[in-house]
Amino acid sequence: MNFGGYGLYLLISLPALLLGLYAQAKVQGSFNKYSRVRTSNGMTGAEVARKVLDANHLESVQIEQTRGALSDHYDPRSRILRLSQAVYATPSIAAAGIAAHEAGHAIQHSQNYGPLALRSLIVPAVQLGSLLGPIVFMVGFLFQRYNLALIGVLLFAATAVFSIITIPVEMDASRRAKELLTSTGIVYSGEMEGVNNVLDAAALTYVAGAVQVLSTLVYYGLLLFGGRRRN
Ligand SMILES: [Zn+2]
Repeated sequence: MNFGGYGLYLLISLPALLLGLYAQAKVQGSFNKYSRVRTSNGMTGAEVARKVLDANHLESVQIEQTRGALSDHYDPRSRILRLSQAVYATPSIAAAGIAAHEAGHAIQHSQNYGPLALRSLIVPAVQLGSLLGPIVFMVGFLFQRYNLALIGVLLFAATAVFSIITIPVEMDASRRAKELLTSTGIVYSGEMEGVNNVLDAAALTYVAGAVQVLSTLVYYGLLLFGGRRRN
């Protein structure tokens, strides 16, 4: 049995891992820094989200507070925007940026923004594929059933597609957030540098996530075709 050794896995996954750690540190650092900078208008994240949503005729989208750090998200099924405590109740530059970004997802949803719709559509395949793909692959690989291993790779590929579509979805939400914060007068131009800093750091984590999934896919591919050649 040969998995190409840990060396191969390390070689392929290490750059992705380092990028992931770098992105995490950057988003944490940026959030901590701009959480301490108050916006001049003094609006909390919840107030910012409400104003942005209402300006886009989304009065029916609810805003709730949720537990955990950087756990902010928009739930399209219940049409609820959930903001972490540090965003919900804080009148900071970081809170304004993140609240507007999440409101951006709600706007994407209301406009049937294509990449978001596609991402929602493949969620069941991703849930199945991310769990089953690696198992099917390893079983097929161990027993030298390469067609089975290939099915495992294809199952896992849904996860890769998801993580790639996530990038334009997130970039678009941040682009909308920056635009809306300026156009609604919530943040004045001098404060935008901090907003950009926070949102760009967050975008990098999604790029790192995609690189991580893709590197795993490449590893599976190399094992599979390497294994076939030896057979
Ligand atoms: Zn987002």
